[in-house]
Amino acid sequence: MASSPCPLCEQPGGELIWQSALYRVILVDEAGYPGFCRVVFNRHVAEMTALPPEERTALMNAVYAVEETLRSELAPDKINLASLGNVVPHLHWHVIPRWRDDPHFPAPIWAAAAREAPTRPVDLTRLKAALASRLLMLESFAKE
Ligand SMILES: [Zn+2]
Repeated sequence: MASSPCPLCEQPGGELIWQSALYRVILVDEAGYPGFCRVVFNRHVAEMTALPPEERTALMNAVYAVEETLRSELAPDKINLASLGNVVPHLHWHVIPRWRDDPHFPAPIWAAAAREAPTRPVDLTRLKAALASRLLMLESFAKE
């Protein structure tokens, strides 16, 4: 079977916030979910266990750094972490801030919407700067 083109090999997959040799962090434009990020591994692999241990650790540390930044900047009620890859089998983690009044709470964001997205003003410029700063710190620490 010929391999079909992979969207995450061809494009960043969203607004690029941070890029390292191993992974990138993108901001997802999804109604009701300001601050929704994805941490995308740069190489085309499908599963965490396809990576050597040090790369798994580096990738998860980036996921945790994004989670911490979303918590401190947005104070959501919950963070959802998800790695599915059924549609696009290129390793990526969804880091999703959740609020009790968001369109799908308490179901996963991929469920049928239960309500309209509330207005939630978020300073995305500030959030992007905070994410970049946190990820830069992580990268500097990893190189020591
Ligand atoms: Zn790919």
